[in-house]
Amino acid sequence: MPSVFIKTYGCQMNERDSEAVAAQLVAKGYTLAPSERVADVVLLNTCSVRDAAEQKAIGKMQNLAADVRKNRPEVILGFMGCMAQSRGQSLIDKLPDVDLVLGTQKFHRAAEYLDELFAGRRDKIVDVTEEEASEAKIREHVLNGGGAQAVTAFVSIMQGCNQYCTFCIVPYTRGEERSRTIPDIVAECRELVARGVREITLLGQIVTSYGKRGWSSSFSLSENPPPPDTLKRELQRKSPFVQLLEAVHEIDGLERIRFTSPHPKGYGDDLVEAYAALPKLVESAHIPVQSGSDRVLKLMHRGYTRERFLGIIQKLRRVQPGMGITTDIIVGFPGETEADFDETLSLAREVGFDNAYIFKYSQRKDTPAAAMPDQVPQEVIEARHARLLLLINEIAGHKYEQHIGGRTQILVEGPSRTNAARFMGRTRSNKIVLFDGSERHRGQLMDVQVTRTGSFTLYGDPAIVNLD
Ligand code: SAM
Repeated sequence: MPSVFIKTYGCQMNERDSEAVAAQLVAKGYTLAPSERVADVVLLNTCSVRDAAEQKAIGKMQNLAADVRKNRPEVILGFMGCMAQSRGQSLIDKLPDVDLVLGTQKFHRAAEYLDELFAGRRDKIVDVTEEEASEAKIREHVLNGGGAQAVTAFVSIMQGCNQYCTFCIVPYTRGEERSRTIPDIVAECRELVARGVREITLLGQIVTSYGKRGWSSSFSLSENPPPPDTLKRELQRKSPFVQLLEAVHEIDGLERIRFTSPHPKGYGDDLVEAYAALPKLVESAHIPVQSGSDRVLKLMHRGYTRERFLGIIQKLRRVQPGMGITTDIIVGFPGETEADFDETLSLAREVGFDNAYIFKYSQRKDTPAAAMPDQVPQEVIEARHARLLLLINEIAGHKYEQHIGGRTQILVEGPSRTNAARFMGRTRSNKIVLFDGSERHRGQLMDVQVTRTGSFTLYGDPAIVNLD
């Protein structure tokens, strides 16, 4: 059977989609190639969030056409994911070597379309149409990549986004919010745990919106929903997302639960309380803030204020003082003044983020912000990005140093990706810890003493703890 290589750009959802496509192809008899050089099929899973990500994928495809295709004309080349969805047929018009363009609601059709291309029944395939219930089709996993057992896994709980932030292309590339049911998600999590997974990260564009749309018709919280009055009362008390967390928490053998990303607007007290009530829900929160200025937040259509965001952080730290808090920030949004940017800097100091993904604003086709006046010059965006990066590194550096000498629990994931001689685990607050370990540590929850720090890394020693 042919072999496939999938190269992924962008977010964890894209990583997860690629993994599901790989697993579905393996189930149909395909093998996974170690590199594009030897693969019979090369798929690029694309990201549209910023122009730079799109250009990278287009450049990569041009290289594949020039190198791989030239030497092996039978190789099938394809785009999948967000850019495939937004650009469709135009990708083939621009790059005639491309054989397949697979939209974000069509991942599960990859094998069927590749079979058609291999059989010569079709010459080119572009499918970017919507498909009912496609959100429930991303559930297969590759858990033994390279022969080693995976300790952690991502589970996609929903697709799409209805937030329509003025800068963001995601609602147009991923479609309307569609949530999977709780029983379906729990069943997938149970299967993963039975296969040795110990930590699950629940994934969605905005997980705090989970189950809020369409549940009365196509979505139900359970297979046997309670009577409408009871259900209504329950929903008023606890959001569907918190109900999902509780259901996943019940799974025996599962040690840790994470999720990404919530939206500050949907961060209710029930979710804050879940951190106190559910011990498997680890003390880590990635909450995209985007800006520290109320004026910019309003222009972005974010639906919360700086004060509301700070209030959430305060509440979270009240229930879990050691909470690791990370965020996304955009610099150079149209109309962002020096004063607005100063507010972002001061918010970063006030919160004391453990890390932040800092994005340079990128104009996206058909989004309201692209047509806004006062677009910020690129050199100003670059300068603000550099200043914020410096500040985040400084704040995070101090936070990491506070761990030196302390004891912390890690879940060991396997050898370090950057230094195979060391093993890597993660603290509950989502910090990477490197230590001298071996295969027997994989999948173990263990205590280490932190001896020193590196860049966004802790170094630990299990031996010191064991000598106590
Ligand atoms: N769940 C997230 C939220 O609450 O907004 C959305 C995830 S989005 C795919 C990842 C991040 O990309 C966003 O949080 C935002 O910081 C960044 N982003 C989105 N559109 C962007 C744009 N046009 N320019 C720069 N960064 C952008």
